[in-house]
Amino acid sequence: MDADVLIVGAGPTGLMLANQLGRRGVRALIVDRHSGPAQQSRALGVQARTMEIYAKLGVIERALELGQRGTGANLWAEGHKMARVPLGEIGRSVSPYPFLLILGQDDNERIMGEKLRDWGMSVQWNTELTALEQSSGHVMATLRQPDGSTRKIAVAWVAGCDGARSAVRELSGITFPGAPYEHVFFVADTVATGDMVPDELNVYLWREGFHLFFPMRGKDHWRVVGILPANLRGRDDLVFEEVVPSVRREAGSGLSFKSCSWFSTYRIHHRSAERFRDRRCFLLGDAAHVHSPVGAQGMNTGLQDAYNLAWKLALVVEGRADAALLDSYENERIPVARRLLDTTDRAFMLIVSDSWLAGLFRTQVLARIMAFAMGRARVQRFAFGVISQTGIHYRDSPLSETLPGLPEGAPRAGDRFPWMRLMFQANGPVEDLYRKLDDTRFNLIVIGQPAPADGTPGLGGLLRTHGVADDPSNANELASRARISGPAFYLLRPDGHVGLAGTRLEIAAVTRYLSERHIFI
Ligand SMILES: Cc1cc2nc3c(=O)[nH]c(=O)nc-3n(C[C@H](O)[C@H](O)[C@H](O)COP(=O)(O)OP(=O)(O)OC[C@H]3O[C@@H](n4cnc5c(N)ncnc54)[C@H](O)[C@@H]3O)c2cc1C
Repeated sequence: MDADVLIVGAGPTGLMLANQLGRRGVRALIVDRHSGPAQQSRALGVQARTMEIYAKLGVIERALELGQRGTGANLWAEGHKMARVPLGEIGRSVSPYPFLLILGQDDNERIMGEKLRDWGMSVQWNTELTALEQSSGHVMATLRQPDGSTRKIAVAWVAGCDGARSAVRELSGITFPGAPYEHVFFVADTVATGDMVPDELNVYLWREGFHLFFPMRGKDHWRVVGILPANLRGRDDLVFEEVVPSVRREAGSGLSFKSCSWFSTYRIHHRSAERFRDRRCFLLGDAAHVHSPVGAQGMNTGLQDAYNLAWKLALVVEGRADAALLDSYENERIPVARRLLDTTDRAFMLIVSDSWLAGLFRTQVLARIMAFAMGRARVQRFAFGVISQTGIHYRDSPLSETLPGLPEGAPRAGDRFPWMRLMFQANGPVEDLYRKLDDTRFNLIVIGQPAPADGTPGLGGLLRTHGVADDPSNANELASRARISGPAFYLLRPDGHVGLAGTRLEIAAVTRYLSERHIFI
């Protein structure tokens, strides 16, 4: 076998998968048909859940250093500021990263590309997948190499992280139903001054659509994204200056553009692959789903696809899990993609519909509803969970099992276990739970009862145990953050989602859970 896993595509999804496999010691080969990293930034928003994963990967400091924290979003309509959504405050109790990090896709790719060196890996550029042949034990992949010659390699698994026109998807005969939107987006990197609230996201809703102003690193540097007015669609020779009048009409005459260093237009599609897997080949990221950029979810969803698949593939490659474990990748990620497509579709239609009524709704009603709703703590929490991707759960997955007896509102199997600060020894320091978790193993959190020691017979080396000390401050934190009162235990999968949840811990329940899921610890 030439490699355990062939990763096709070195966009954000492929780079995340390569890093996650590399740090788990899997022999993975990552190839891309381009000659080097992308120069354009495309996606901009890094969500809280992605930052949590970056922290476990050891790249969060670099990302925070290069990015700009968006702590608030301001909603404008017809020249007036209608509402401010305090992104930072909303998520403070949910994630160590309660904000949207504005960091271009090119920077994200650079950070993850550099990290590959830690595992002795690098991208093989100018290398294109052209054919695939599956057999029961391996896949033969044909690669066109930089000198134009072709080479056949044998690999155990193939990960198609090769974008919306995925060769892996097409060669596997998986359809990609959906359609393009009629609207055309534009994106411009500008230096501008105006009424925009500095360092925050500014959203301008207008009768014919919307404009977003993202604060970027550097003085008065704004990324402007919007939809083209109908009369400018279909033009290949469009320049930024032609779009400026419509932007100024809505963002105010005080708006002044000093320069524009990049301008591009693009059409977007909404599509989801009918399956995310064909035997030994998987689809991840844009190869599996594409949707409107509303909500800055696209890149983040691909990164989470990779985080979901990586630990499962690593266990199977190591021989510590049966290949049946891999079925859960599709079971868990297809519903996430379909839900995302539905919500971004509805939100997109609402904010871009050309109808007169929709225009009126957008500028007169939507902004006021948002202003009212965002004043409500419950709505804020719900919105943060959805947008930051911290609320994604796999409750219906075959890997999720909740035993009876847990209090109402406590985390269930499939949930991302909440972020908390806890004491793990009586009178010990208060520690960040997420820092304690080892995301290359399962983690067993034991509350209100003695915790078994690491290495307890039956629990094996695949599992770390964390006993939560009996202490009033812990009880308070558990009750307020997770509604956990009384004894409980949570077996977390390596990706931080709860696999098994219950009250009184019995080692036999944990070992039964793992063996029924074909995991051998
Ligand atoms: C102009 C634009 C603006 C966008 N803005 C946003 C935004 O604001 N927010 C957001 O969330 N998303 C945005 N997106 C979407 C976002 O860029 C994608 O969701 C993200 O790039 C998906 O990452 P990926 O790694 O799955 O795929 P890609 O980034 O498309 O990477 C796929 C890689 O596979 C390689 N490849 C393809 N075929 C082969 C082959 N046969 N062999 C070898 N290599 C191959 C390609 O060269 C490419 O490098 C935008 C997209 C565009 C086009």
